[in-house]
Amino acid sequence: MGGYGSGQKCDSKKTTGSQYMIDIRWMKKQGLLVPGTSGSMSWECRGKETGDIGYRVENNRLILQYQNKHRGGEWESIEDEISFTWTPCNYGGKRQWFLCPKCNRRIAVIYGGKFYRCRHCYDLVYDSQQENTADRLMRKARKIRRRLGGSNNLMEPILFKPKNMHQKTFDRLRKEADSATNLSCLIIRQRFGFYP
Ligand SMILES: [Zn+2]
Repeated sequence: MGGYGSGQKCDSKKTTGSQYMIDIRWMKKQGLLVPGTSGSMSWECRGKETGDIGYRVENNRLILQYQNKHRGGEWESIEDEISFTWTPCNYGGKRQWFLCPKCNRRIAVIYGGKFYRCRHCYDLVYDSQQENTADRLMRKARKIRRRLGGSNNLMEPILFKPKNMHQKTFDRLRKEADSATNLSCLIIRQRFGFYP
């Protein structure tokens, strides 16, 4: 049994790299939430298949089977379990949700990375990683600036070579500080839309 169209976000801005999502409302519409159902679901983007994932539905959980490759590493087979939860509807019946395995939030859509989690959990991971990188770059730039006798203000140019420093060393360090500053600005600008 196969299903198409659970919807890779191919047109929206990607903030966390290549991401796949599974919408429980889409699964319900396709009749895939019946316990005992198994098969594979595919994503497509502008009519082209861009990936697929094996699944199995049990009474109270969805089991996802897929391969994950870490940067430069080996492929790894992963079996991820997403529990279901239900809330009563106003007009009778029940509405089915996923429970995020990480934060236990009730959600309609799970997003794939190495594991399938809610949007919120992925945003947090993304934000802290990016902020750490930006911080590290700014610390690096400031350290070089101090060595060159510059101020802590990354926006101020470093004009004068310290005495006793070779011109070559000075040029190289100034370049390093500049590129660290530029990269940290780029990350922060992407994140906040401006440089704070
Ligand atoms: Zn979560």
